[in-house]
Amino acid sequence: MVTGEFDRPAGHIAAPAVPDLAFPGGGTGEEAVLRQLEDRLANNKYDVSKNFAITYSGFPAAITRKVEELTAGRFFVEWAMEDEPGTMSLERECVAMMASLLGKGDASGFITTGGTESNIAAMRLARNIGGRDDAEIIGPESMHFSFRLAAELLRMQVTEVGVDTESCQFRVEEVEKALSPRTVGLVCSAPAGLFGTMDPIEEMADLAWRKGLYLHVDAAFGGFILPFMKDLGYHVPPYDLSLPGVSSISTDGHKLGLLPIATGFFLARDASVLEAVPTEETFIHTTSSTKPGSRAASAWATMRHLGRTGYQESTRHVLGVRDVIVEGVTSIPGVRVVTEPFITVLGFTSDTVDIEAVHKHLDAERWGHTYDEIRGLKFIRLSIHPSRTEDAGRGFAEAFRVGAERA
Ligand SMILES: *Cc1c(COP(=O)(O)O)cnc(C)c1O
Repeated sequence: MVTGEFDRPAGHIAAPAVPDLAFPGGGTGEEAVLRQLEDRLANNKYDVSKNFAITYSGFPAAITRKVEELTAGRFFVEWAMEDEPGTMSLERECVAMMASLLGKGDASGFITTGGTESNIAAMRLARNIGGRDDAEIIGPESMHFSFRLAAELLRMQVTEVGVDTESCQFRVEEVEKALSPRTVGLVCSAPAGLFGTMDPIEEMADLAWRKGLYLHVDAAFGGFILPFMKDLGYHVPPYDLSLPGVSSISTDGHKLGLLPIATGFFLARDASVLEAVPTEETFIHTTSSTKPGSRAASAWATMRHLGRTGYQESTRHVLGVRDVIVEGVTSIPGVRVVTEPFITVLGFTSDTVDIEAVHKHLDAERWGHTYDEIRGLKFIRLSIHPSRTEDAGRGFAEAFRVGAERA
């Protein structure tokens, strides 16, 4: 299941079972432990290099391995920033670099653990600024499930406007119609996680501006590719803090930014937005506290090392891999993309080929992908990490062809 952001699970999801295992008595030799660990990792369904299923399955920039060694024992957290000014300055500079990348050089913000924490931060600010106990936010049903998680934590309401299953688009008029006196904010995605479609952000920003509402743009996927796509000449509609109606934006470094997992960025238009966090009580602005120094250092080092040109190169590469796959798979009779791919997430479907049978073949050949069905639409979804190769893309498309021929 990949689509927590779109459809609901069929029922209550039980917590993963815990095996019967006691805390170890004596220690085990390092070599033996590492061997056991390798065996365990081999149980994973797909090899990292053949995994197109989930963006997280990718290798961070090579420099981050060296950064890990250099930053052993380092950490960063607001309440102890005077203890680790060196590490903290890396985090501050990362925020500044991201702010300049995402449309407003003087934006303020934090490194977070990812899109979920960033979206919770946005909902909290919208609620606190809105100043209501019965606060509601409105967004498309294609928004990430973390907004519903935030609503549950923050005792807010979420009103969802419908999206068309295949185009994944919603209508801003519907959002406007849904506004109520309880509405404190709006959310939208750049792009949405399911098939990577862009929400109508300019129109949402305009609505938020006219109504004086908080607007958060969830650019978990887009923040590390849209700016570079624009550099490369792709048409990218405005989505970031350059739109005056956008109050905050977040992005994940661990999706397309080549950063280690659990690196996200939350940016508010300016520092005054962050005054809505009651730090008199909470000490810190974020909902996670102490984070490894390697997270800030890896982000800082990778951004400095690759620079804009390096990320342009990585963007050109990952879109090239995508195009190899799309060309190969859509040349199979009867197979089409669900919606025209914009970034690196996409879905394939068919009215004539048994997509579930193709999925079983791809699984047997251990090509990572996800298979799902939403409202009768059966599809195979891919989310491509920049460390995948064109060769792997060709291999995947070929396996898809064989699967379709046998189906
Ligand atoms: C992945 C994703 C998130 C959640 O990010 P995590 O890093 O898993 O917390 C939120 N929104 C969108 C659009 C995403 O794609």
